[in-house]
Amino acid sequence: MSDPAAPPADLPTFAFDNSFVRSLPQAGVPWPPVPVAAPALVYLNRALAGQLGLDADALATPAGAAVFAGNRIPDGAQPVAQAYAGHQFGGFSSQLGDGRALLLGEIIGPDGRRRDLALKGSGRTPFSRGGDGRAALGPMLREVLIGEAMHALGIPTTRALAVAATGESVRRDRDLPGAVLARVAASHLRVGSFQYFAARGDRANLAQMVDYAIARHDPDLVHREDRHVQFLERVARRQAALVAQWMNAGFIHGVMNTDNMTLSGETIDYGPCAFLEAYDPAAVFSSIDHGGRYAYANQPLIARWNLARLAETLLPLLADADDDSSVQQAVAQVTAVIDAFPAWYDDALRTGQRRKLGLRLGEAGDAVMADDFLALLQRQGVDFTLGWRRLADAAVGDDAPWLSRFADAGAAAAWLARWRARCLREDGAAGLSDLEAATRRAQAIRRASPFVIPRNHRVEEALAAATDEGDLAPFERLLQALQQPFEELPTLQRFGEPAPAAVTAGYQTFCGT
Ligand code: AMP
Ligand code: MG
Repeated sequence: MSDPAAPPADLPTFAFDNSFVRSLPQAGVPWPPVPVAAPALVYLNRALAGQLGLDADALATPAGAAVFAGNRIPDGAQPVAQAYAGHQFGGFSSQLGDGRALLLGEIIGPDGRRRDLALKGSGRTPFSRGGDGRAALGPMLREVLIGEAMHALGIPTTRALAVAATGESVRRDRDLPGAVLARVAASHLRVGSFQYFAARGDRANLAQMVDYAIARHDPDLVHREDRHVQFLERVARRQAALVAQWMNAGFIHGVMNTDNMTLSGETIDYGPCAFLEAYDPAAVFSSIDHGGRYAYANQPLIARWNLARLAETLLPLLADADDDSSVQQAVAQVTAVIDAFPAWYDDALRTGQRRKLGLRLGEAGDAVMADDFLALLQRQGVDFTLGWRRLADAAVGDDAPWLSRFADAGAAAAWLARWRARCLREDGAAGLSDLEAATRRAQAIRRASPFVIPRNHRVEEALAAATDEGDLAPFERLLQALQQPFEELPTLQRFGEPAPAAVTAGYQTFCGT
């Protein structure tokens, strides 16, 4: 074990500026990571390090591994376990908090953006309850893969900066190699952060936290009298856009508890998540989601439900509890936001679908055409990703790659004829030649619908090799493919193919605990 008292001279430097601990000392507990036996760097995200203005070469050293494993605390870091509450599967816990994570501090990148740097799997904290505070290598590498895939797909997400192996094992259903993830996020504030103080009736700290969140994520609102409702609207609009992107990518988060929904609009916590293969709105992969609460098609409904919980936390700031009319007015204000959510979501979903259909301008029948397309995929159990992607071939008249995905090609051809007529209407209006329009459309579809997604069987294969054989090569190959999801390189074909249906039917994901 490295000696925590050794001089930090060789440690990589981070220009920390820790607004969270400065502004909200009551919202966390200063707490050090628990050192591990043998830190070793397993993964370093050099591109992300560059974006943060960090020296990747200095991070890729034993000293860097010691920092990412929690054995050494870099200059300026002020590790803190953040407090939060949350509704888990609908039931409220007034105290969750970072049970195996710590915020190390915040870094302002060369782009001027402030981001959290946090460790996950860094040992027990005052919020650990029965947990061991640790994480296994497989689930932390999973966070790398899915986070980088989401980023490459253009979906807002927290990202992995590094993974350090601990040289210790963690006890799950069997002994697994342990690891610590270094995670970068616009912030770790979540719906549950507000719920924590709201549940305690602690209006003063709640007000401070809300103002902190506004300053951090929507600084243009700070001086507005109506900033609380405005902020709720911003969060709701970000979540509407985010969940629409999830839906158009076939992503199932799997555990949309209110403590796993950010205020920044980034996707967070890749535990039991999975991507659809054969299109099925009722798809659930998580082993603990018995009721299908977090099924694919439920995600926009759950997002709204979570936002309603966020809205409730703001009521004490909007109204005087002893004055009925002020309470009613506040309730009406936040309800208007929550009621507007479905339309914001629908707008974002339909805009994304239009891009995937290769259409530039909206037309009245587009939503029905997209719905009919999805119904066709569902009826025939067609792979969601390739069902969309192969429209690019059909756009230039090569229908076979798309049609061949359908058992009943007749029904598919009928839909294709409708789509083609719709495309011709748009092209005619734009005065484009047929060939020019078709080529442009195929390109546009290939930018909107990926070829490579994190296929569940490929992810499992990569994690099993890392966990069971200590072989990181499959992980690295998959990661590389996921980082260019819109390319269709011959060498990456195997990452674009669906799993055998029997594999997907039996596929289950587990919370990364
Ligand atoms: P999650 O739904 O995975 O984001 O986690 C829910 C809560 O459980 C959070 O408060 C976590 O900090 C906590 N938790 C999860 N796994 C562990 C663990 N192994 N040890 C301690 N706390 C944990
Ligand atoms: Mg969580």
